[in-house]
Amino acid sequence: MRTLITNGTVVTADGSYRADVLVDGETIAQIGSGPGGATPAADQTIDARGKYVIPGGIDVHTHMELPFGGTFAKDTFETGTRAAAFGGTTSIVDFAVQSRGKSLREGLDAWHAKAQGNACVDYGFHMIMSDVNDGTLAEMYQLVAEGVPDFKLFTAYPGVFYSDDGAIFRAMQRTATNGGLIMMHAENGMAIDVVAGDEVALGHTDPYYHGVARKAVFEGEATNRVIRLAEAAGVPIYIVHLSALDALEAVRTARDRGTRAFAETCPQYLFLSMDDLGHGFEGAKFVCSPPLRERDVWPELWKGLIRDDLALVSTDHCPFDFHGQKELGRGDFRKIPNGLPGVEDRVDLLHDGGVVGGQITRERWVDIISTAPAKLFGLYPRKGAIAVGSDADLVIYDPAARHTISARTHHMDVDYSCYEGREVVGRSDVVMSRGTVVVRDGTFTGRKGWGQFLKRAPADYVRQH
Ligand SMILES: [Zn+2]
Repeated sequence: MRTLITNGTVVTADGSYRADVLVDGETIAQIGSGPGGATPAADQTIDARGKYVIPGGIDVHTHMELPFGGTFAKDTFETGTRAAAFGGTTSIVDFAVQSRGKSLREGLDAWHAKAQGNACVDYGFHMIMSDVNDGTLAEMYQLVAEGVPDFKLFTAYPGVFYSDDGAIFRAMQRTATNGGLIMMHAENGMAIDVVAGDEVALGHTDPYYHGVARKAVFEGEATNRVIRLAEAAGVPIYIVHLSALDALEAVRTARDRGTRAFAETCPQYLFLSMDDLGHGFEGAKFVCSPPLRERDVWPELWKGLIRDDLALVSTDHCPFDFHGQKELGRGDFRKIPNGLPGVEDRVDLLHDGGVVGGQITRERWVDIISTAPAKLFGLYPRKGAIAVGSDADLVIYDPAARHTISARTHHMDVDYSCYEGREVVGRSDVVMSRGTVVVRDGTFTGRKGWGQFLKRAPADYVRQH
């Protein structure tokens, strides 16, 4: 099957130009016209006049079916990856979880079982390490060899995912020899639990106090601490879901002194704020960790994206219904499942707020939604590029289309939207996954099980960057 995309503007992280793109089978076969200016023969032609042709979005932080606080994140690999496709995202990297006392192997196998035969677009895994011991440290080599080269540890959630500094440091030392990358959820969970307990004791049980307890300084302190530990271990480090100015400053000063520290932020930290947490229990819809911050951090985060102190934007997609799930925390904000839906909205929100909003160029937009994630997470140039031989994960994007985000029309399996009623400019019209059209004009044309496991390369890019 050969598909010719004509008349579009190819937008990549490096630049934009008018060119036709020929897809043959699952990959890009030709860009521009053939010898003598001939139009290549194709089985189908897609007219992209007035539209962008961009590499498919890559969301490197999702939690499909994550067990949390006695319930599960609602999107399955089927519903979550279908929603991703509607939003122009054609690859995800999800987090497999090692349960306390069990092996990394058991956790990874469980996540393979959830995804295989169900995902609608390609997927990879990072590994959440809940225990750092001789057994799990030894297992890391095997996971790197199997294409799961990143390991996430937490300074938050004491008693659940929390690791102490010694455990974190041991895991970091190991990545100096196995080629892996440590990803950190950096908030001081011990201190947060003290403040959260104090607030509840004062009768402050509303979701708003989730944000009060998880102070920005606790994120800044933990971010600086884990970066310093990585420096001592002599390894790169990646900070997930950075939300606070204190944390951004820790990353910026580390990078200024030459440390290979990388960080992502998420749309919720660029477009939502503490104000959203503050409407009684409705605020539970906006409970995630780190929490939403005051809106004066927004311009600082955009600046971080412009200067590359923030390398990319992922979603931390982890949806819980308001009814029946978020409601577990009525009367005690500590019991609200943490997480927000977002995998479907990321590309459009960043186009609207970033490109249309005048914060970033369309090339940087493509970079932060696709190319930088591919480079940092061992997928480039198979993904994240429009180049001959790359996977034909392509989005024909209408930069002028307007639509309104709503739970009534989104495809994520969750009963609310954090962006309900927000009008955005920009929409994915045609979405291709490995050469097959999976979304066209608002209709899903792909299939469950089409998505393949992405065996990713070790994190060389973060070492040579
Ligand atoms: Zn997460």
